[in-house]
Amino acid sequence: MKHNTCPICLSQNFERLIDFSRVPISGTYLHRKDEEFCQRSLSFEFCTTCSTIRRVMLQDFLLDYHDVERTTGHRWLPYIESGIVEPLKKETSPEDLIIEVGANDGAFLDLLSQRGYTNLIAIEPSVPCAEIIGHKGYRCVCAPLDKSTAETIRSTYGPAKAILCRHTLEHVIEPDQFILAMKHCLAEDGLLFIEVPDATRITDDLQGYLLWDEHIYSFFERSLRHMLLRLGFDILSFTLGQYGPVRTLLYWSCLAEKSEKEIQFEIEFSQVERCRSFDNHWKSFALQLQTAAEQWTGPILCLGASHPQSNFLLFTKLGPYVSYLVDDDPQKVGRYVPIPNPVKVISTDELFKMKEIKTIVCTAFGCHNWIDQISRHLQRTNTCFVDPYADLKTKLYMMNQPALKQ
Ligand SMILES: [Zn+2]
Repeated sequence: MKHNTCPICLSQNFERLIDFSRVPISGTYLHRKDEEFCQRSLSFEFCTTCSTIRRVMLQDFLLDYHDVERTTGHRWLPYIESGIVEPLKKETSPEDLIIEVGANDGAFLDLLSQRGYTNLIAIEPSVPCAEIIGHKGYRCVCAPLDKSTAETIRSTYGPAKAILCRHTLEHVIEPDQFILAMKHCLAEDGLLFIEVPDATRITDDLQGYLLWDEHIYSFFERSLRHMLLRLGFDILSFTLGQYGPVRTLLYWSCLAEKSEKEIQFEIEFSQVERCRSFDNHWKSFALQLQTAAEQWTGPILCLGASHPQSNFLLFTKLGPYVSYLVDDDPQKVGRYVPIPNPVKVISTDELFKMKEIKTIVCTAFGCHNWIDQISRHLQRTNTCFVDPYADLKTKLYMMNQPALKQ
């Protein structure tokens, strides 16, 4: 397939969504303030037919999860039982072959195992993660999923009754080929479950920090539905999930009678326009925050030191105003995050011991309990709490008016 072809709707037309220029790679935690770090060009484009957003793949682009050590098993989502485990249990038996694609550290397989499933296989390209899965006693294919991996899996283990693909499809370069590879592993009466973040959070709610260098594609509900139908699936159910600032799209599908269909995508012009105006909206939002930041008294602390925070501070150019990031992950405390100047990460306890805190920016998006805990502890001080998204809903409504009128 030609690189410029949209793998979702097969259109050839992309426009630039936004260009963040050169930024440090997310997930960089330096041991020393003067340690060198890598920067990479980061820009995104969108399909003018189906609105799908993708990272512009430049020459220095590299995608390799072989050595990635990050595990996400601790992130339990509130809908995991009702949205995933219960529907799976209704349609499958404990001895059925279930494959999880992008199994990370096997935390979800643990849950399935606790629910009685005994015939589980993980597909996971990261070697450190695959080792964890192996130590837990699960069968694991440590390779990126493509046609040949799919053929090997099917001939070795037989067809799967269900394939679960959670927070993985947005990380791959050819999502259509990836879905076809999963299809190849599936039994005729098998089920495919896909879970991805919802791109409307970016374009409609201006949560631009959800544009992440590791997310090659950002899908809208209609665009991913279209791709599944086109590639020969019927959608059995679709629901939305929510955790923190992230909204997710959850699809249960099965094989359709026709293996692939030629269908035309019906353009939703208002969504295309929201993509088209994102750049202006983000830049005006960032400028408002920079103007406000000039008035904040230091030291200025931002809550959280993961990629949503580094993305937010880099994309809004607020980084140079920040004195410390606050995070309780022991892997991050004491390290430096380049935003783009390296800023130290301190723990909540260290924050409470500080003599003077003038401004706290609530960048721990969705972590309301933690923000409440900190604001209760500091209520007798003269610390000023800033919510960067306060009042934005009204502003967004006003900003969207010209775009919607066209
Ligand atoms: Zn498209």
